[in-house]
Amino acid sequence: MNQIVLMYHDVYMSDLSESGFRRERDYPYKLPLDVFERQVAAIYNYCKDNNLPQESVVFTFDDGGCSFYHLIADVLEKYGYVGHFYVTTKYIGTDGFLTPEEIKGLGARGHVVGSHAHTHEHLYKLTPEQVREEWMQSVTILNGILGHKVTEASIPNGDTSDVVLKYCYESGLKDVFTSRPTNKKGSYKDMNLYGRYVVLCDTSDEYLLSIIGSSFTRKKLALKWSIIYCVKKILGDRYVQLKNLVYRNK
Ligand SMILES: [Zn+2]
Repeated sequence: MNQIVLMYHDVYMSDLSESGFRRERDYPYKLPLDVFERQVAAIYNYCKDNNLPQESVVFTFDDGGCSFYHLIADVLEKYGYVGHFYVTTKYIGTDGFLTPEEIKGLGARGHVVGSHAHTHEHLYKLTPEQVREEWMQSVTILNGILGHKVTEASIPNGDTSDVVLKYCYESGLKDVFTSRPTNKKGSYKDMNLYGRYVVLCDTSDEYLLSIIGSSFTRKKLALKWSIIYCVKKILGDRYVQLKNLVYRNK
């Protein structure tokens, strides 16, 4: 079985605005701490009961919210998982986001820190030179904080294109995570491309486990993604409002 990569964002104790971006459109991506811990435990137990190696499920987190360090890493460590944390470097040290010390701390605790570009702009709207700058700047900042080269990244807003991948590659990245729901590994030159399955605040435990255990669920998600992809091409900016609606009506 190929690895199933899950895409999370922020986790919160009592307030949706505690960690990460504070726009209303970001809220469906944030999970209460007890729900998140229940999901990690359910996945851990599911893998154990079905004799799946623990590496069958990969936990990734986008944006760079302070909950990565203060809430999420503790839960993952309790169950023996390594987190893959992708940081939007422009926001480092601002309210609700990780500080350089916390980023270093995540690395020291054995987690993987990677780039989520610099500004979190929709990369398809930028010129090739700006896309290059997004990745180069972000990778340089993270390399400086961590003291070693980052090799992983996730693409903000899921906007992949040849230009986006070209500059990921030229920034020295080796493993890039998209928002496409697939467990089949792709490539760009010798850089690996991985799809991910998004987890939202209303994703039930049963549904989450069926993503891991059922190829039928994954096929349905892949089909839905293809339809959304076409709609996105047609609607452009208006797609964002539609996206939340569609994802929540599963
Ligand atoms: Zn993001």
